[in-house]
Amino acid sequence: MVSKDQVTEALDSVIDPELRRSIVELGMVRSIDIADDGAVDVTVSLTTPACPIKSHFEQSVATKVGALEGVKQVNVAFDVLSDDEKQALAGKLGRGGLPEGALAQVKNIVCVGSGKGGVGKSTMTSNLAAALAADGNQVGVLDCDVYGYSMPRMLGVEGKPPVTEERKIIPLEGSGGVKVMSVGFFVEKNEAVVWRGPMLHKAIQQFLEDVEWGELDYLILDMPPGTGDVSITLAQLLPQSKFLIVTTPQPAAQEVAARAAQMAHEVDLEIIGIIENMSGYVDPSGGRHQIFGEGGGQQLADKLDVPLLGKVPLEEDLREASDSGKPLVVSNPDAPAAQAIAQAARGIIAHTPKELPTMQAPAPAAAPDRGAKELPVIQ
Ligand code: ADP
Repeated sequence: MVSKDQVTEALDSVIDPELRRSIVELGMVRSIDIADDGAVDVTVSLTTPACPIKSHFEQSVATKVGALEGVKQVNVAFDVLSDDEKQALAGKLGRGGLPEGALAQVKNIVCVGSGKGGVGKSTMTSNLAAALAADGNQVGVLDCDVYGYSMPRMLGVEGKPPVTEERKIIPLEGSGGVKVMSVGFFVEKNEAVVWRGPMLHKAIQQFLEDVEWGELDYLILDMPPGTGDVSITLAQLLPQSKFLIVTTPQPAAQEVAARAAQMAHEVDLEIIGIIENMSGYVDPSGGRHQIFGEGGGQQLADKLDVPLLGKVPLEEDLREASDSGKPLVVSNPDAPAAQAIAQAARGIIAHTPKELPTMQAPAPAAAPDRGAKELPVIQ
């Protein structure tokens, strides 16, 4: 007969896609009862009764436990964590509150970062998002570059996002059908954001928890440049997101980009690849100029042992398209820069799953202690 330990071990590979950890580790397995006839009853405790991922748990628990030798039937029941238990769970996750369903249906989160500003990180974010959407994916963009927000402009969308009766914020739809959320929607036109640490942290947390993203294949985050607090906060709140680094070709820029990589490593995020932007310029007579040097993207990719997903040339129409709110991959998909970005988007698709990660095995190593980097959260 199967033992309770074996059932627990099987349940350890059922991952809560929203909290991105095993339900065993999260203390969400309320009870396991094993009958003599091989029937196993498992009760899973949810954070809210209307948890939209209930059916994923049901299916995942039944599959994992049902695969054990000696198990003839699996019955999955649900209850809800008490307020004290929820608080304990929030404490365990090291943050002020729990997201309640907002990211439950987001299959992949990709953070686009860079060592410094001006390398084209936002241009890549908006174009990659539009390229993924053009490929039939449901895509959202979250503008986390709070001080330098540019997604509304680059994806051609403005206005105030509506709020539902449940006080959830609905993202606006930008070019190519990409859902967009940005601090830019909440400030007066082109007003500077002067929020300090705690307010910034709270805003980012709200964007993650209170925005009704719905079902998404990809949520792309435009990170602030560098390795500041916001980047670290985000990485901690979204431990299973992937990190993509944008850099320019000059070898001297690699040290700066490598710092972003170092941060991703420290907070235990997987680096999915590198995009080299501003990679050569072809003049109208066909002459090629390496204005920002060459080879840096490949060097960084080799150093980090990750793929170089694309080399995007310097192109005036890429800038013009961004300024007019219609990414080049939408307005002129045949342009060389658009083609290079579309290729990078295909690289992202190849490196990310299409299914919600409920059936994934848990990460083999325990998460590192991130306590030292915890940021102050307003209560
Ligand atoms: P970051 O987000 O890294 O600060 P941006 O995406 O805002 O950088 O890009 C900075 C400027 O460079 C923008 O005006 C943008 O249109 C332009 N730009 C970015 N990449 C290219 C490129 N490959 N060719 C031409 N202009 C580019």
